[in-house]
Amino acid sequence: MADEFDVIVIGGGPTGENAADRAVRGGLTAAVVESELVGGECSYWACMPSKALLRPVAVAAEAGHMRGVTGTTLEPAEVLARRDYWAADWKDDRQVDWLRGAGIELFRGVGRITGPRTVRAGDDGPLLRARHAIVVATGSDAVVPPELATVRPWTSRDATSAKEAPPRLVIVGGGVVGCEMATAWSALGSKVTLLSRGRLLDRLPDFAGDLVAAGLREAGVDVRIGASVASAQRSDDGTVRVTVAAAGGPDGEAIEADEVLAATGRAPRTKDIGLETVGLTPGSWLPVDETMRVVGADGGLIDGGWLYACGDVNHLALLTHMGKYQGRISGDAIAARAAGREPPVTNEAGTRWVPQVVFTAPEVAAVGLTQQDAERAGLRVRVVDYEIGKVAGAGVYEDGYTGHAQMIVDLDREVIVGMILAGPGTGEMIHAATIAVVGAVPLRRLWHAVPSYPTVSELWLRLLEAYGL
Ligand SMILES: Cc1cc2nc3c(=O)[nH]c(=O)nc-3n(C[C@H](O)[C@H](O)[C@H](O)COP(=O)(O)OP(=O)(O)OC[C@H]3O[C@@H](n4cnc5c(N)ncnc54)[C@H](O)[C@@H]3O)c2cc1C
Repeated sequence: MADEFDVIVIGGGPTGENAADRAVRGGLTAAVVESELVGGECSYWACMPSKALLRPVAVAAEAGHMRGVTGTTLEPAEVLARRDYWAADWKDDRQVDWLRGAGIELFRGVGRITGPRTVRAGDDGPLLRARHAIVVATGSDAVVPPELATVRPWTSRDATSAKEAPPRLVIVGGGVVGCEMATAWSALGSKVTLLSRGRLLDRLPDFAGDLVAAGLREAGVDVRIGASVASAQRSDDGTVRVTVAAAGGPDGEAIEADEVLAATGRAPRTKDIGLETVGLTPGSWLPVDETMRVVGADGGLIDGGWLYACGDVNHLALLTHMGKYQGRISGDAIAARAAGREPPVTNEAGTRWVPQVVFTAPEVAAVGLTQQDAERAGLRVRVVDYEIGKVAGAGVYEDGYTGHAQMIVDLDREVIVGMILAGPGTGEMIHAATIAVVGAVPLRRLWHAVPSYPTVSELWLRLLEAYGL
């Protein structure tokens, strides 16, 4: 006899927690099956520990650009201890308390779907039956490229939980994880070499990656653009020899390191969750409809629509806040459908209104469409650029403030469809842009949203003036 719940969530990360919570708030019973720590990657090996490492670096960097302030030295042991605190010392007691307090049942073990609406919780654990839905929220794993497979490379888990700075660190990959970890570990004492096949942060306009590369170089990181790994070997004394392949140049320079971080992308955690029992392919991302129901290769719902997938695993936006949003949407949709109602909300943000902050020095923050995205979507756009350092508030914020803003305007509706900011403190500024983009606030209306003087946000006024208002 199976234990029955209205909803069974596989994976107790931020996404799964939100899906279960919203289902319970909607009057349903819910169980979460978690194989490691409740709180997921985000709490222990991603957002929280990485940002706990990076905030002191940002504070020191800002202090270093402030006449009249001395003492910008980091104390690595203290920074790492602060990180341990924010990673809850890799214990999930508090999150388990929260889960239980929210009325959600917890099963420990690997959850595997065994057929329509059933999940086995752990190898020899109980069989659970879902009356209404199963939500897959199992997240993603770091991808290790074959050329690094034999050298026991660091993945993002090691890079966020290491107990000391390796003297020499090679980072492979110039995306968000590579840039953030280069920022953190160089500040904590490692000699970092960053190898990036293309420009840094290459999904964003060039200025973003260029400013981050300049910041990293100023911090002493050896940034190699157009470089990748030809081969790598680890010797008996632990040293890794990384042979670099340079785009368009001769291969063969060898760099010695104590650790190599593979920051080369993510793969869905779906290899061993029983997808084959319901006609899906193990190891694949799980495409979803606008309420997070999984759709099969033919575009149709799985068996009437009891299977949902939220967070990294559906590949829409690999970010905690977007996974949590999707979790809320799915929980509400499941509760509404169980009561014979239409879902109250759908995934309007999708992939077009995704805010993201890259916590480098300087920070990069973006929301909405880039110029390229907008043009690809057939919009008639105008791109407005502005040097943030020209704003009086920016000069007061930091001596010699260097930063750049780019606003993408849909000319037919005269609304902002995208904003990209690079500069100190811009992570806290992007939400204003998110509101303007999602609310489709007309530029002529925004003109009356007067930014306080002298803040960096006076940038908004300058962007509107540069547009011609
Ligand atoms: C270094 C790094 C830094 C990041 N920084 C940020 C950031 O600053 N901001 C941000 O928004 N995003 C950040 N991200 C991305 C963010 O971590 C993910 O988008 C987020 O964790 C996804 O949440 P999730 O719930 O989908 O998956 P996860 O957080 O991965 O949680 C999935 C959970 O499912 C469990 N699980 C997996 N398989 C099973 C199974 N079969 N049975 C039972 N349980 C299972 C796992 O143990 C885990 O607890 C970062 C990522 C990395 C790698």
